[in-house]
Amino acid sequence: MGYINKTVFINYLSCPTLGWMAKRSMLPRLNKGLNNKLLALELKNIHKILWQLFPNAINAKTFKTYNLSLDIKDLVLSSAIETIFEAAFVADGCYAKVDMLQRLEGNAWHLFEVKLGNKYKTKYVNDISFNTMVLAKSGVNVCKATILHLSNDYRLGMDILQFFKKLDCTEKVELKVQEFLTIVGKAFEDIESENMPKPYLKKSCKNCPVFDNCMGKDIKNHIFDLPRLSISAIDKLVALGVDTIEKVPGDFKLTAMQKIVKNCVLANTTYISENLKTEVENIKQPFYYLDFESVTTIMPLYSGIAPHTQLLTQFSLDKTDSLGNILNHCEYIADQTRDCRREIVEKLIEYLGENGSIITYANAERIFISSLAFFFPDLSEQLNKVIGRITDLELIVRKNYYSINFHGRSSIKKVLPVLIPEMSYTDLEICDGGDAAAAFAFMAMGFYDDKKIKETKMNLLQYCARDTLAMIRIHQFLINVVSQNV
Ligand code: SF4
Repeated sequence: MGYINKTVFINYLSCPTLGWMAKRSMLPRLNKGLNNKLLALELKNIHKILWQLFPNAINAKTFKTYNLSLDIKDLVLSSAIETIFEAAFVADGCYAKVDMLQRLEGNAWHLFEVKLGNKYKTKYVNDISFNTMVLAKSGVNVCKATILHLSNDYRLGMDILQFFKKLDCTEKVELKVQEFLTIVGKAFEDIESENMPKPYLKKSCKNCPVFDNCMGKDIKNHIFDLPRLSISAIDKLVALGVDTIEKVPGDFKLTAMQKIVKNCVLANTTYISENLKTEVENIKQPFYYLDFESVTTIMPLYSGIAPHTQLLTQFSLDKTDSLGNILNHCEYIADQTRDCRREIVEKLIEYLGENGSIITYANAERIFISSLAFFFPDLSEQLNKVIGRITDLELIVRKNYYSINFHGRSSIKKVLPVLIPEMSYTDLEICDGGDAAAAFAFMAMGFYDDKKIKETKMNLLQYCARDTLAMIRIHQFLINVVSQNV
């Protein structure tokens, strides 16, 4: 007989097929590579902080019976333990490993669940409710349920007592447990069945990690290719049995952009708006192409920084002539041992001069510079001038140019292979933003020696420079489109 754990059960709630696959480890990892390693490391560190806060608690790991331990249950039910970390319980085919249990009195317990976020999320209640249900089935009476999430007020260097915020979820958990108890029997049957529950289209398919191999398989123009499709629109289309853009009824209410995408699909054509020419011509020379990279860690890297703060760590800046020839390339990467944000903006101001458009892809650079203008008031006047020169190339693409091969997206990673097929990131050691951030975090945390730091910095600079080069090529592509459509 198998067991179902919290992850399997929560996946089952969104889709029985997904729960069945989760049980068989058939779901791809959302955080891959370096990013995944960083998350595992941070999780370990956060649990260590919890242990510091409760020095007299017992860690279930110290018992050899840790794995699927019924002995731990007996231990908890005896009066020998007041507080225990990471105890595992099995009951009625469900398995739960709980972060912390603290005895209130007798067999009345306070359950704590640690979360890495810094604000409340509904899914946290689902998690702690599943564990509460398994504990109840094991005979452990949870009278209070608390989520420990990270405090927005904590800054590195403060007393570690301020690291977590407590959120009492007892009432919500009581209700959820009642709901789960009505579902769990059927869930167990479905999940343990040899036959996979039949998949069917629903709103949760949109962000499902196996969509391309499940409901999206062999469907060319799925309704999810319609940009910014609302939940209610998905519900209505699903109720009508519509899964492709071609089948969307003519009188179905779509946004202007969704109509454009639908028309492109029906006519198998590319959309070029009348405004593209004006928008492209409004970009003033000299052209500066700017891309930032950043790092975000749960445990702050530098003194005075809050958990989850996104810190600017590097930039790439290309200045070109009107034909896209690079006249000057500047780049910067922070010293990983300290917070270099001021140095970065000072360099930027110096390199950007006074004139010309600053071209970014998406809005991240504008948001970073705005927050830094707030953070360094003495530089705000210069930084606000920089903001005034920014043009978001993604916005121009999104409003004015659509190829059916974009599949409803406009990110640089989706658009580049369609517009400039000869360009890619595949030859780079670091080829996505998540890995770039994780690589910087590992350097800052002191895991790399000098040789590895040198190599990593070179890889990071190459990755960031590829982003600005991609922008140059996309911009030139749009200039050519405009010139050919005069
Ligand atoms: S794509 Fe949809 S039906 Fe298939 S597993 Fe995901 S949520 Fe379930």
